[in-house]
Order: sequence, then C-alpha cells, then structure tokens
Amino acid sequence: MIIDFRSDTFTRPTPAMLDAMYTATTGDDVYGEDPSVNKLEAMMAAYFGKEAALFCPTGTMSNQIAIKVHTQPGDEVIHSNLAHIYIYEGGGIAATSGAQSRPLEGDRGMIAASDVLAAINPDDVHKAATSLVCLENTMNRGGGCCYDMEEIVRIKEVCLQNNLKLHLDGARLFNALVATGENPATYGEIFDSLSVCLNKGMGCPIGSVLIGSTDFIRKARRVRKRIGGGMRQAGFMAATGIYAMEHHIERLAQDHLHAKDIAGELLKKSFVGHMLPVETNIISFDLVGHDWTPRLFCDYLKKEEILLNPVSDTAVRMVTHLDISPVMVAKTCAVIAEME
Ligand SMILES: *Cc1c(COP(=O)(O)O)cnc(C)c1O
Repeated sequence: MIIDFRSDTFTRPTPAMLDAMYTATTGDDVYGEDPSVNKLEAMMAAYFGKEAALFCPTGTMSNQIAIKVHTQPGDEVIHSNLAHIYIYEGGGIAATSGAQSRPLEGDRGMIAASDVLAAINPDDVHKAATSLVCLENTMNRGGGCCYDMEEIVRIKEVCLQNNLKLHLDGARLFNALVATGENPATYGEIFDSLSVCLNKGMGCPIGSVLIGSTDFIRKARRVRKRIGGGMRQAGFMAATGIYAMEHHIERLAQDHLHAKDIAGELLKKSFVGHMLPVETNIISFDLVGHDWTPRLFCDYLKKEEILLNPVSDTAVRMVTHLDISPVMVAKTCAVIAEME
C-alpha cells in the first residue's frame, strides 16, 4: 500500500470519474463544438457568478494567460515572493507577457493591502507601469493557508483606486472555500479573473479553468490558442471536471481532517520543529535536532511505503487528497508514533 503525500496531483480518477469520461459527449472545442467543455465552462462561470470561463490544460497556462491579457510588455505585476506564478512557472511573467515582477514579502505568502499600495509605481517615465496584482488562495508555499477575506477586500479597494486588475491563482480555491465556508460568488465579484485547478484536490487527471468577463475570456481564448492550448475533443477531460464539481468539493473537508490528524501526531515528536498552521490539506514543517534531515526523514518513511517531499534544507511537506484513505492516515500516524 503506497501512501503518497507528495502532492494532491497524484490522484487517480475514481471508477465513477472514469465512467463520466467514457460516456462524455464531445466535439472539437477549437470550433467551440464540445458540449462537455461548454458545459464545464458555463458551470464554472455560474459557480463564481462571472460571465465566462475557459478550460485550459494546466493551472500554469491559466495563470499565464491571465497575466498576458491583463498586462502590456514592460508592465509590473505585484505578487508575493512565494507566489506560484513567480517561483514555479518557468519565468512566464517575463517570457510570455514581457512584464516584470514586484515580489512582496507577506505572512506565509499572503501580502497586505498596505504593502500593495506602497509598491505601486508613480506615473513617472522612469518607472514600469503597475497594472496587475496577483494573489494565491490557498497559498501553496504558505502551508495551504487561507487568505483573510477582509484583507482581500482592502487589496481590491487599492486596485480600484489605482486602476489595477486583480487576478487570483486559485489552484486550491475549493480547499479554501470548504475550509472557510465563504461564498464562491464573493470571489467572482472581487477578482477580475480567477484560475482554479481540477488536477489538484478535485481529483481530475488534467485541467484548470480560467474565469472572468466575456471580454476577458474572448482575449484569453486567443492567447490560449497562440500558445498551443487549444485542445480538440477536450470534453473527455472536461467531463471529469463536471463530475468533480458535483462530487468532489465537499469531500475536501475529509482531506483537511486527515491533515490535522497527521499534524497532531507529528507535533508530539521532539524532532518536529516549527509547523505552518494546518488550515487545509498541506502539512509543512521543519525537522530539528541531529537525527533527521529532510532527506533521511523522507527515505525512512519511503521504506514504510509513505512518500513525501523535502521542500528546503530543513522542511518537508505532506499533502492529503482523494487517494489518501482513513486506513492510510491511521498507518501513517502509527509509523510516526514509533519514530524517535
Ligand atoms: C499546482 C499549482 C498551480 C498550477 O499547476 P499546474 O501543474 O500547471 O496545473 C498554480 N498555482 C498553485 C498555487 C499551484 O499549487
């Protein structure tokens, strides 16, 4: 029994999800003729109370398309120094949009409205034009923490007053929605664009959806085609997204409970140092003392068929998901309990 905590991207489609793929009605989506893709896009737009949506192969593509549509070459984008768009997307802000980054220090990657305001460049020919702010929720490198909605509202006010667009990297937004009980329409109202991942907690093999106004999505569709993201019978994949929207959102609460159980067991251990607060499905903690480096710790657990990843010289990360069962959590807790 392999217990894979490396990422929530490792899930396999369930039999019911495979059945949804098998029975999907499809067509050529570049022609706009794939009913399943059209249905998923309409569903996502409605869920967030926005006009339109675009099915993309990856979250990286959704985010980078959004940045491209919201900016001109030479513009500046404000985001956290831990943002996925900045540290894990291959330099896309510069390469795809020709824009430059203004990374800000935040609390676990959550930047404050006052810092955003202070980072906006004046209207001065020496300066890059600030045009976009990007937030991430939940924050991956922040240990899956949930952004405070009041702070998001304050950031939105700063954006409105300074004519900036606001994009959300919501790869794990469903985790945040389940953990906080927030209304998805609040996100649709605040953000000019949102990207959500289907390939993470939602348990789909592939996919992300970019959501925004009709005009924004029309432009995004052209960028998607240009960079090679126009897929043909993508409905086989969209069908998994429709299935996940109907069956895999509320169950994320189970992943969050599993993460808390494992975190509780870890915190009893003297070799576990600082742990980021476990708010959703990510457990990120430092190893202290002389016995365990992240590498040794991961190798030891691997012998027990428990997989996880080091994230730095001192820290490791575990992620719970659809394919982590209560039995697996119990075994993991038992193995940790035996460690010294
Ligand atoms: C996983 C992830 C993405 C997108 O990843 P893809 O593998 O390109 O789908 C974007 N943002 C965050 C925060 C993520 O965790």
